[in-house]
Amino acid sequence: MIPAALSVRRIGLLATLAGPAPRTGAGMRDLGLVRDAAVAVDRGRIAWVGPDAAFEGAVSPRPGAETIDASSAAVLPGFVDPHTHLAFAGDRDDEIRRRLAGASYREIAAEGGGIVRSVEATRAASVEELTGLVTSRLDEMLLCGTTTAEVKSGYGLETASEIRSLEAIRQAAARHPVTVVPTFLGAHEVPREHRHDRSGYVRLLVEEMIPTVVERGLAAFADVFCEEGVFTVEESRRILLAARGRGLKLRLHADELASTGGAELAGELGARSADHLVFVSRAGMEALARSSCVATLLTSATFYLRLGRFAPARALVEAGAPVALATDVNPGGGLSPSLPFAMAIACFSMGLALEEVIAAVTVNAAFSLDLQGEVGSVEVGKRADLVLLRSPRLLDLVRVGVRAIRTVVKDGRVVVRDGRLVAPSTARP
Ligand SMILES: [Zn+2]
Repeated sequence: MIPAALSVRRIGLLATLAGPAPRTGAGMRDLGLVRDAAVAVDRGRIAWVGPDAAFEGAVSPRPGAETIDASSAAVLPGFVDPHTHLAFAGDRDDEIRRRLAGASYREIAAEGGGIVRSVEATRAASVEELTGLVTSRLDEMLLCGTTTAEVKSGYGLETASEIRSLEAIRQAAARHPVTVVPTFLGAHEVPREHRHDRSGYVRLLVEEMIPTVVERGLAAFADVFCEEGVFTVEESRRILLAARGRGLKLRLHADELASTGGAELAGELGARSADHLVFVSRAGMEALARSSCVATLLTSATFYLRLGRFAPARALVEAGAPVALATDVNPGGGLSPSLPFAMAIACFSMGLALEEVIAAVTVNAAFSLDLQGEVGSVEVGKRADLVLLRSPRLLDLVRVGVRAIRTVVKDGRVVVRDGRLVAPSTARP
């Protein structure tokens, strides 16, 4: 008999996403569905998965174990958000209002707005303040079913401030249920003091910032905003090679505002993920498919930025690239912490199937973070991260405004019950 500290019984529809990672092509529609299922959890891990009718013959609940009755509703793996910028202070609400009045991302940046404004506020914030901000944003994400999140630095843009942001991410992660994967994004923008000395900033990244981040063990990944007017493909290659040489894994902001060859670069360097891809070229799609580099689409950020078009999601799936979705939470355009909202846009504005977007926020997002052995599916041995819906209808997830998620289990503990955080963070500044 398998011991269990927590069991979920009477699951109407269990989407296990069991099987190979990442999913591509028609494989993205295979959710590994089990009807009338049960899941047993022990020591924070999935211990048993099977038909509810077989539960009692296989599982022995420990004394005091909790049993959750799913009441015939659907259960999925906890969601994985592979692209967020939670470590920022201040807001840019005035810019968002200007965008509503028709200003473009580039116009706002040319007038001194954009990332550099968040840099001013973030440099002025203490580690404690930033930790509190990251923590409260993780709370918002957890309520939407996110149990694993990548979190980037990138609003410091000088060694001490970048280190402070990564320290804040580490401290928030240490006391928050969400599993956090930290990414160093010192190459998010060229800071104002280096605008006339771009190569000096690239040198600072390569010779000082990356070595310091690695020495302190503060990041798993390095990322670069490869974009017209930000970092060129050549600069991005140099920064990413330096990071890779020191053992960091790679991801890349690629082809968001123009087709610059970012996706091709991600494929060339063996990056785990190429993100945005609104303007990805045909050659870029093929490079991603060839290298199993995940095409991570930031659908709700594209919506809030009013870019006027979305990434070619269908063409990416058909080219054989593994597709993931992320929220891109950030102060400029990433206004929603909700992966279900990102899924709604991916379905209804970009033509992905409901099954495909579920694979995109679970197994494929986990692969993009190199966590496919830990999270992203409901399989024995993986972390016990579960999202329980209120109904058996998976479509409820993308009905914006419906409180589709009833319960969230993280590492075998109930962290959201009846749509509320069980232990809300008290660390707000
Ligand atoms: Zn981003």
